[in-house]
Amino acid sequence: MNSDKNIKHKQLKILMPASEVAPLVKVGGLADVVGSLPKALNKLGCDARVIIPKYGCIDEKKYKLKKIFSNIKICVNKKNVKINLWQCNLPTQHAVSPIYLIECNKYFGSKKVYFKNNAERFLFFSSAVLQILPIIKFQPDIIHCHDFHTALIPGLLKTQKKLNTFYKNIKSVFTIHNLNYQGKSEIKILSTGNLTEHSLKSLSQDAKDGDINFMVQGIINADAVNTVSPTYAKEITTPIYSAGLDKVIKQNKNKIIGILNGIDIDFFNSTTDKFIKQKYSIETLNKKVLNKLALQKQLGLPQDKNIALVGFISRLAWQKGVELITDKLINSKCQFVFLGTQIGGKQYENQLKKLAKKYPDKVSAQIKFNTKLAQQIYAGSDIFLMPSRFEPCGLGQMIAMRYGTVPIVRKTGGLADTIINYQLSIINYQFKSTGFIFKKFDEISLHKALQKALKIYYQHPKIWRQLQINCMKKDFSWNKSAKKYLDFLYC
Ligand code: ADP
Repeated sequence: MNSDKNIKHKQLKILMPASEVAPLVKVGGLADVVGSLPKALNKLGCDARVIIPKYGCIDEKKYKLKKIFSNIKICVNKKNVKINLWQCNLPTQHAVSPIYLIECNKYFGSKKVYFKNNAERFLFFSSAVLQILPIIKFQPDIIHCHDFHTALIPGLLKTQKKLNTFYKNIKSVFTIHNLNYQGKSEIKILSTGNLTEHSLKSLSQDAKDGDINFMVQGIINADAVNTVSPTYAKEITTPIYSAGLDKVIKQNKNKIIGILNGIDIDFFNSTTDKFIKQKYSIETLNKKVLNKLALQKQLGLPQDKNIALVGFISRLAWQKGVELITDKLINSKCQFVFLGTQIGGKQYENQLKKLAKKYPDKVSAQIKFNTKLAQQIYAGSDIFLMPSRFEPCGLGQMIAMRYGTVPIVRKTGGLADTIINYQLSIINYQFKSTGFIFKKFDEISLHKALQKALKIYYQHPKIWRQLQINCMKKDFSWNKSAKKYLDFLYC
């Protein structure tokens, strides 16, 4: 992609505008990726920096934020809006990873990350990102945008290239983390980014149906596009998974590749995790059970080291298959811990709360966002559930495996790419399996997969131990995938 073939990876300057970054602000897996991919790129010698909005919920003191520019004027529809720019340096093992934060109370003063006017708020952010670059004197080789929130940047960049040579050589990359959130909005909000439907061909075409779709704009205008697992890259070319975007995906099919996400293996590490009761490794796996006992106690479940504990940590969204968790499943011989929150309606929250009320000795439903508790569930559970309807990549299953917690997943997207199914026919211990996969999205298939896992757990402890070891030995670090970004997408 980069026209100057002589640019070496190690010299690449990359800017990642995004709506979330861990640990500063996290709603889902997007934050984990934006928090860890730049670190991996910097380890490979790049200068990768992140930029996000400064939301009211970000803890200035905890993250030692420093204001580096005040009262920068951002042009919005021929008027100026003033912003401040903050910086935070997250130390990593290899380098410092700078994170910039754009402060503008009008759009981002709220403690909530996503609520109303998302498209307009993030269009302002996208436009501001480009406008501040000459001011902070950072001229990236690549702007790597993530999901619909920053999907208009490639288009904005095209318009800027015509006006200012500063932007001339900057290329854009767009990563689709989840095709179902598209940022559809009224045409009139384009003025927030100093655009009209006539500013770009892609906008005038898009506007014909009466609205603008940010996701579509990102796919069309970016120089390179990827999604977050090879299977999801294939799935989104089919009507079931394309969320109505079949046409644009098909037209751009050759441009869209799948690169599996990684996880921050320094953070998700059972040997160093400060949030868990008992640290452990493959060699000391016997100690893992102390985390189960601590979790059972903490959540008011009967303490029993022998009963299988099933964990589930998720945004409570339609995508995640919560409706497959029914009485039939709960009546299995195990306990369940659910951790999640729902944005919008309360249907899934209520479903899980109801189960917890009905089965107080078997089910704990924790309706909140809590990173510490999440770590304790990853470490304390025996089995991790991801019965997703679709899953672009999924990080939960990879994190669970790091903690020797065996996943049960539906065969879709990144779940299919990261788990090797266990076949009951295996009779020796030389197997590579790491979990249990079911295909059909229904209650019976999930129930069967759980019964299969429980059979191994209770009746074949040696096989179970081997499954745990296989999981823990898997390399889900960013090492391979960060190189793929460098080799296939940035060059
Ligand atoms: P998605 O990006 O669709 O939300 P992923 O599996 O890719 O799903 O990533 C979810 C991330 O968010 C994981 O790190 C998971 O542990 C975390 N997470 C989800 N819900 C919660 C919660 N309620 N509390 C703490 N962490 C959560």
